[in-house]
Amino acid sequence: MTCKTHICVRNLDVYYGKEQALKNITVNIPEKKITVIIGPSGCGKTTLLKSFNRLIDLTDGVRYTGEILVDNENILDPKIELTAIRKKMGLLSQRPCPLPMSIYDNVAYGPRIHGIKKKKQLDSIVEYHLKEVGLWEEVEKRLKEPASMLSVGQQQRLCFARGLAVEPEIILGDEPTSALDPMSSKRIEEKFLELKSKYTIVVVTHILRQAKRLADYVLFLYFGELIEHGPAAQIFENPQQELTREYMKGIIS
Ligand code: ADP
Ligand code: MG
Repeated sequence: MTCKTHICVRNLDVYYGKEQALKNITVNIPEKKITVIIGPSGCGKTTLLKSFNRLIDLTDGVRYTGEILVDNENILDPKIELTAIRKKMGLLSQRPCPLPMSIYDNVAYGPRIHGIKKKKQLDSIVEYHLKEVGLWEEVEKRLKEPASMLSVGQQQRLCFARGLAVEPEIILGDEPTSALDPMSSKRIEEKFLELKSKYTIVVVTHILRQAKRLADYVLFLYFGELIEHGPAAQIFENPQQELTREYMKGIIS
């Protein structure tokens, strides 16, 4: 696969206290593709994803060494400006967490913080991103209602729209469909596939079938180590490592 690298991870070690959650991870994440991180529970998937936007900093006792270059800037550098990194990356978490405000205000929240005040402009931003996640038709007549009135699946798409409204370059998803019913999950997956022409997408999943549907590139993590990574066809059809083969066959989980 010839493509540009967007996130370049070099010798990343992450510790929670004495426990090492990631061990010397080195990998290039391709631009405008879907990279899927797979591996059993507790193997460091969330930790890796949260390193990308420095959300791991919020954990007490966390330490890390190594480099993560995004657009040639080492985002692990203590001097880096965190708001700028986080603006570049939208995170979709396991459960939707809409802000306690209206549907409209959830999407307008980020753009307002970034200084957009004109109602007309906000209206069109809100409409654009609600359409981008396939929610517009379901909510266009009730934009003033609290976001909490929506179903969980709709809330997740709303959170997705809220993330996209700050115009990130990278979308991070941490098991973003795990709280959703099959129909809602399918819609999120479809949106990822549509949006990869515009964004670099990194998704954590422990559902192998979902990984196969989404992935262009795959990282297989096992107890903090990156066992194998490569184009999806290679990892799924012809893995080089015994551990990867066992994981694919469901022998280890
Ligand atoms: P995954 O997302 O693959 O389930 P995580 O990245 O959440 O894995 O966790 C990796 C390892 O780090 C696990 O052993 C977990 O117990 C540990 N860990 C995760 N978060 C914390 C934390 N806040 N404090 C201490 N240990 C943690
Ligand atoms: Mg996790």
